[in-house]
Amino acid sequence: MPNPTADSPNEAESSVKVSPKGSARLKAGHPWVYRSDITADNVPPGALVRVTDLHGKFLGTALYSSSSQIAIRMIADEPVKDLPALIARRIRSAIAYRKRFVADTDAYRVVFSEADFLPGLIVDRYNDVLSVQILTQAMDAEPVRGAAVEALVEEFKPSGIFERVDARIRELEQLPPRASGVIWGQKSSSVVSMNGIQFHHDGTEGQKTGSFLDQRENYAAAAQYAHGEALDVFCYQGGFALHMASKCSSVTGVDSSRPALEIADKNAALNGREVEWIEANAFDLLKDYASSGRHYDTIVLDPPAFAKTKRDLDKAMRGYKELNLRAMKMLRPGGILVTCSCSFHVSGADFVEVVSDAARDAHKSLRLIENRGQAKDHPILLNVPETSYLKCLMLFVSD
Ligand code: SAH
Repeated sequence: MPNPTADSPNEAESSVKVSPKGSARLKAGHPWVYRSDITADNVPPGALVRVTDLHGKFLGTALYSSSSQIAIRMIADEPVKDLPALIARRIRSAIAYRKRFVADTDAYRVVFSEADFLPGLIVDRYNDVLSVQILTQAMDAEPVRGAAVEALVEEFKPSGIFERVDARIRELEQLPPRASGVIWGQKSSSVVSMNGIQFHHDGTEGQKTGSFLDQRENYAAAAQYAHGEALDVFCYQGGFALHMASKCSSVTGVDSSRPALEIADKNAALNGREVEWIEANAFDLLKDYASSGRHYDTIVLDPPAFAKTKRDLDKAMRGYKELNLRAMKMLRPGGILVTCSCSFHVSGADFVEVVSDAARDAHKSLRLIENRGQAKDHPILLNVPETSYLKCLMLFVSD
């Protein structure tokens, strides 16, 4: 296993040449070049590299990965002398962006990798605890880690910074194994607030870095339209369910994960709300409920990413169709359907199409109340389509 990055030089000493295809991609503003479009001789894993075209013309500075198919990720148009200092500056500007656009919460994404010009770094804030994920060789280098932690401590004065490790990603990046744990301070759990609702956060547990922060603004929007009897399918720790509870006569949350529902129940108690939690496979439950003639006024569908790769697209579309069809059949006239997809490979247009198909089969009409996406703390870079992944349609359903 290579020994990546630990002592990688600050100044770019290595260089990488990109093919005309790679150059065109960079000129279009995309920061990635694939391995098949570069030549790199003796470039150490995680190195800061000068990028040139085949004629030696300087194109910018990038972070190199010796193992990923994405061989380089651009970090600057200019030469970079001091990478840790650049990382610290970028973190500060990511924080400044959140100060302008994030409201009503102390839980939000502070750094979103490429979308904040910090490829391979994710930082989430959960009140006084920060959660960090490192996804590339270059970001794993000690000087870079150190600069990131220092900038975050200075800006937030947190009680703890927790590093959440994805063993599979470290293996893919050929990085030595590492355990999740507190990397600064002491604390790894806290209580956070989103739109006036409280949630327990435990950095050591759960999916993603603990919560689905990208849905935070959609929770508030869903609560505006929710009414009557509500069903939150794929509820996880109760994000949508708890936001809808004050507007609805009853709320039921469904998820297959018992640990998620246990936290959901604690979250309900924290907010003094009654929600019924059901541990079940959502596909089976919706089938049972639909055939036994159950009806609701509001249904939320927020399944996990069905299409993790392009190859899964057909299967994913069938999954979305089935869920949406059953939900529409269960909605009373005038009902609200909040339906989401977080699969990057399912485009916004694909998703609208599959939901429309389901409506046709269910003999329902849909009016689009809002066509939404990820919260503003998960910025979308227009020339980097991979930064846009969440779709959330809010629909008025009639016969
Ligand atoms: N709506 C949630 C996020 C949902 S993430 C929020 O806003 O926080 C997707 C959830 O689907 C996860 O909690 C996962 O446990 C659950 N899940 C995955 N497959 C499932 C299935 N077949 N049936 C029910 N739940 C499932």
